[in-house]
Amino acid sequence: MIDFRIEPEFQEKLDWIMTFVKEKCEPLDLLFPGHAGPYNVHDPKAMKVVRPLQKVVQDEGLWACHLDPHLGGKGYGQLKLALMNEILGRSFWAPTVFGTAAPDTGNAEILAMFGTEAQKARYLQPLLDNEIVSTFSMTEPQAGADPREFTCLAWQEGDEWVIEGEKWFSSNSRLASFLIVLAVTEPEAHISSRMSMFIVPSDAPGLETIRNVGLMDDKLDDPAEGTHGYLRYNKVRVPLDHMLGGPGMGFRVAQARLGGGRVHHAMRTVGRCQRALDMMTERAVSRRSQGKLLSEHQFVQGMIADSAIELEQFRLLVLKTAWIIDNEPHGAARTHIAMCKVQMAKIYHDIVQRAIQIHGSLGVTNETPLADMWIGLPSLALADGPTEVHKVQVAKAFLRTATPQEGLFPSDHSLTRLQEARRQFAEYL
Ligand SMILES: Cc1cc2nc3c(=O)[nH]c(=O)nc-3n(C[C@H](O)[C@H](O)[C@H](O)COP(=O)(O)OP(=O)(O)OC[C@H]3O[C@@H](n4cnc5c(N)ncnc54)[C@H](O)[C@@H]3O)c2cc1C
Repeated sequence: MIDFRIEPEFQEKLDWIMTFVKEKCEPLDLLFPGHAGPYNVHDPKAMKVVRPLQKVVQDEGLWACHLDPHLGGKGYGQLKLALMNEILGRSFWAPTVFGTAAPDTGNAEILAMFGTEAQKARYLQPLLDNEIVSTFSMTEPQAGADPREFTCLAWQEGDEWVIEGEKWFSSNSRLASFLIVLAVTEPEAHISSRMSMFIVPSDAPGLETIRNVGLMDDKLDDPAEGTHGYLRYNKVRVPLDHMLGGPGMGFRVAQARLGGGRVHHAMRTVGRCQRALDMMTERAVSRRSQGKLLSEHQFVQGMIADSAIELEQFRLLVLKTAWIIDNEPHGAARTHIAMCKVQMAKIYHDIVQRAIQIHGSLGVTNETPLADMWIGLPSLALADGPTEVHKVQVAKAFLRTATPQEGLFPSDHSLTRLQEARRQFAEYL
């Protein structure tokens, strides 16, 4: 049974969210710009504005909706979350205002799934309340896409784990109260049991920031700008109970958060693309060239039609992925999540590029949201794993179902099939 309708009560909530995001969150992107902004819970100026908005969201019963009710969320499931996230994706601040900002959402999920009661009390609750923010520290300077290349080690000494090695692109580490760190505990073991996950408080002795790496639009070598920590763990010691999940479970724990993270990014990408499309259509019916509106030029119509069609296709893929996560056994959405991951970077590129083109010179200025969208583009194809790796995963999933055909011609060889068809229906021909 397929039903594309949205329940009227939930549609009311979505309408409320859309108005709130446009009126209250999008202005925050302008008032408090920069990559650190939505994660800087230590910025009193921003928090003075943001905390009351979070309270409104909480009172509306829409705080941290990705969580199950026992963790203070709504237990909406991924499908409803997708519909919400595609609105929150319009604004960089909105996820923080609604308690659904990555990477804290993913970190909260694995703490909830694999954490002990003591770990949950110390780290999960303040994270859920957005009193603190956290970091996921996995990528290394010499290796990102392939965890088999990771070398950051952890070993047990007495009643402590000792962590030694470097990590790269640990987002928000300079703002985080704790880091979730993937380290090799069994160097010779298979990838599935080679690593373990640890919780490291950010004030742990030996945790050194080599530098905070900035993105393309950050000033070079300005410590106030970069938000992606290049870190060195100099024999950092944590108590034994700071392992998250069991020994050798690091890869499994990482996968549990990365899958969700990828699909949530895809949901928010729908929202950002919709915002670019809205801008495109408004501009097209507002501006004139050669005696007619831009919207009357067929090239412009083509750009709008291509964008609308591609966005609808992508949106349906994301919603189906969310539906699979909600309704099928754990892991069933793996290939669909990889499809979303691949496609979100492509569609975001194509739609934002067209929106910039339709805005002409204004499109390349820093005076519209398109500038931030364009700068964010390459990150979408890298964060949570590069596009190529996910394409390979999709291809392999399909190739696993393929059967080799004996002989020179494929099973769908028309001439062979015509001969078979003639034989089958000979008495009627
Ligand atoms: C904005 C942003 C935020 C991030 N936040 C975090 C974070 O919080 N924590 C964290 O741990 N990491 C984070 N990362 C790092 C991210 O996970 C890595 O960038 C990603 O896994 C790729 O690793 P790499 O950069 O080392 O690229 P590499 O592994 O060096 O790969 C480089 C390129 O080589 C090609 N390639 C690699 N492998 C294959 C393959 N198997 N098949 C075909 N081509 C391949 C691809 O073109 C790929 O883009 C973040 C990255 C970005 C951009």
